[in-house]
Amino acid sequence: MTKSTFQFDNTYLHLPQVFYTKLQPTPVPKPEIVITNTSLAIDLGLDFSDTSPDAQAAMLAGNQMPEGAEPFAQAYAGHQFGHFTMLGDGRAIAWGEHLTPTGQRVDIQFKGSGPTPYSRGGDGRAAIGPMLREYLISEAMHALNIPTTRSLAVVTNGEQVYRETALPGAILTRVASSHIRVGTFQYAALQQDPKTIRSLVDYTIKRHPPRSVTKQNESLSLLESIIEKQVELITHWMRVGFVHGVMNTDNMALSGETIDYGPCAFMDTYNPGTVFSSIDHKGRYAYANQPAIAQWNLARFAETLLPLLDDDAEKAREIAEEAINGFGTAYKDKSLSMLRAKIGLFGESAEDESLMTDLLDWMQRQKADYTNTFLDLTNDAPPKGEPYEDETFKKWHTRWQARLAKNTEPLESSLSLMRANNPVVIPRNHQVEQVLEAATHGDLKPLKALLAALQKPYENSSDLKPYQSPPKPEEKIYQTFCGT
Ligand code: AMP
Ligand code: MG
Repeated sequence: MTKSTFQFDNTYLHLPQVFYTKLQPTPVPKPEIVITNTSLAIDLGLDFSDTSPDAQAAMLAGNQMPEGAEPFAQAYAGHQFGHFTMLGDGRAIAWGEHLTPTGQRVDIQFKGSGPTPYSRGGDGRAAIGPMLREYLISEAMHALNIPTTRSLAVVTNGEQVYRETALPGAILTRVASSHIRVGTFQYAALQQDPKTIRSLVDYTIKRHPPRSVTKQNESLSLLESIIEKQVELITHWMRVGFVHGVMNTDNMALSGETIDYGPCAFMDTYNPGTVFSSIDHKGRYAYANQPAIAQWNLARFAETLLPLLDDDAEKAREIAEEAINGFGTAYKDKSLSMLRAKIGLFGESAEDESLMTDLLDWMQRQKADYTNTFLDLTNDAPPKGEPYEDETFKKWHTRWQARLAKNTEPLESSLSLMRANNPVVIPRNHQVEQVLEAATHGDLKPLKALLAALQKPYENSSDLKPYQSPPKPEEKIYQTFCGT
């Protein structure tokens, strides 16, 4: 018996049965721990100190489920690159919901734990590289104060998975506020039974209570709250230069957390058209398209709620449209505030928007590094170095200084605002790839060093130097792969 302190309370299984299939993870021959997240375990109230490494590995590979776990795979559908498909957890199995010491309810879920009825011919497995990538980037996002699923552990399973070559198989343990996706609602709507969608709405409201319930209609309150959370999430992504890469509706969580780290990467050189994913040929999920895609996904969500928004179909459509249009206005406001914060502006002035777009345009023309340009501005002296000798930049800098002088707050407050919004370090893709390559060959040191460097991304220190340089031309990585 594995000793653990899980407090399971598995409410998802109270939903109608069409939403899930109960099943056990497929046992693996030789589980071995690669990495565990001690600080997350503590936050979750989990203590494995009395559990031997072998027993921990057996648990984190699904060979020995902890008491109270009731494993199941979730059913869902989704638009992938705009095309509707039936999906579901094809290689993920939830253990159930754990209650943390502070009363938070979280899903604990395996990724890579074997086939399920939703695998559609896939092997249900995952390779070590992509699982460590999810671990690394999700933990970096958390440290950046961006809502995200978390990663509790990665274990290898003692088997090989076959992608382009044979690779060590691995299982990630993911922790999330829930795994309810836009695609879960699309799946519910497909059942053509008002009770099914109603039960999912009621369930989602319990797990993610709308922030304001002033409206008569609780489905509308839910829709508005989900829209608000996505506005916040996408604004964060844009702030730090994060490109999710596969914003299919099944990869949008209603919790407002970033989920499904596949081909995601952080932008080095500022370019709104940045795309990393090898399968995103048309740039659907390019950096600058993310707000519009989020809105498109939310429109698919709103459609599933139509029967609950009003008995009159026409009226329901109008209500949904108004809510979805609200995304555009809310995003514009949030995005402007975010950009103001990045350059230390307090209050509002008519010139603010052009001040920011002119800086971004200059960065694009100069092929400037997104993170480091903002970092260079976060000093009390003008930034030094060759790109800043440019006349256009100097003129911009003078305009910026004049605008800062109109600030209602002192310069010190501007600098603090900028420091809180401009990371000093991000997981740069060339380094991510390097550490994953080393880890795949058994050397975890570079991965752990990078993880450590990403723990306090708003505090500059000389130790961070090796992680702050953009890639040299020969180090640049233009493509990332899902690795599924
Ligand atoms: P993703 O691109 O990771 O969001 O996955 C899209 C869909 O493919 C989901 O339904 C996954 O569960 C499924 N999937 C991805 N990889 C595998 C795999 N190796 N075996 C079975 N299903 C998979
Ligand atoms: Mg997915």
